[in-house]
Amino acid sequence: MIEIVTYPDPVLKRKAELVENIDGDIQDLIDNMSKLMYQSSGIGLAANQVGVEKRVIIFDINYKEKGKDLTVLINPTIILAEDRIIFEEGCLSVPDFQGKITRKKYIKAQGMDRNGKSIDIEAEGLTAICIQHEIDHLNGTLILDHVSHLKRNMYKRKIAKRMKRSNNGKTKLL
Ligand SMILES: [Zn+2]
Repeated sequence: MIEIVTYPDPVLKRKAELVENIDGDIQDLIDNMSKLMYQSSGIGLAANQVGVEKRVIIFDINYKEKGKDLTVLINPTIILAEDRIIFEEGCLSVPDFQGKITRKKYIKAQGMDRNGKSIDIEAEGLTAICIQHEIDHLNGTLILDHVSHLKRNMYKRKIAKRMKRSNNGKTKLL
């Protein structure tokens, strides 16, 4: 089973690769990502958040009715973006962190669905935010990269302390 990779795992900082073939592995990946996203009460997930460096994102802002509004976008690109919106975002890969982030309010995105059919999506508000957030992931960008140095460094210190603590817990002194 796959699981969500969290900061500071380096896979989150790397650019994911274009999907050339929508094969069985990609279909399994999409199914596993969807399961995991709903289990985690997330509204979006990018493949490199589960350690797979492929350009696949899924999202469903109506996650309460599981699966009804699930969108899969393979090799997504944004072809038009207008106006600004500020929203407090969190991320499954950046636990215990929220930040007010400025995004585009309206976007047009293109990509393929899981059958390889090209799709165009016009989105605004939360859906537009979500698509930009997930495409950011594919490019190795986290919400931490959108906030001030001060806020980012505070979070880095918090995580470093936590990792040190949990390491110490595992160490057996003989
Ligand atoms: Zn995220």
